[in-house]
Amino acid sequence: MKGCGESNTGQPEPRVGIFWLVANRLIVDASPLSEAEPYGDCLGHRLSHIRYWAILRKTGVVQPELEYDDFPRGRVTYNAKKQEFYFLADTCILKDKAKVAKIKKLMYLPASTIVDTDLHYKCPGCDKSESKREQEEADWDF
Ligand SMILES: [Zn+2]
Repeated sequence: MKGCGESNTGQPEPRVGIFWLVANRLIVDASPLSEAEPYGDCLGHRLSHIRYWAILRKTGVVQPELEYDDFPRGRVTYNAKKQEFYFLADTCILKDKAKVAKIKKLMYLPASTIVDTDLHYKCPGCDKSESKREQEEADWDF
């Protein structure tokens, strides 16, 4: 019926949220900015990685023996004071430009979103490539 569900002409509301890259598959949980939870000057997703991972395990999306920090992950927050979105993620995600673009699109993020790394987001793969690099450097000592 006309009048009930007339589409909103504006852009969808940008989201804040958390995400993982699990074996080349994106797992994203996000909420519209108007439902985000304030902390300090920022607005963030109501669920932490740990809490949402518990739900993913319970619902069988991920295998129970897998840990939330076994995979590259990141989050999107909004600084209300600066009016800026921050996309903070593991370098394993950031180096995959197509995945970054996909997450930004899924969450309706503006082009001005600041994309950066975060020390919290380092998967075992990051450590491995670092120790591999050290190993390669060590080989020069021979
Ligand atoms: Zn990584």
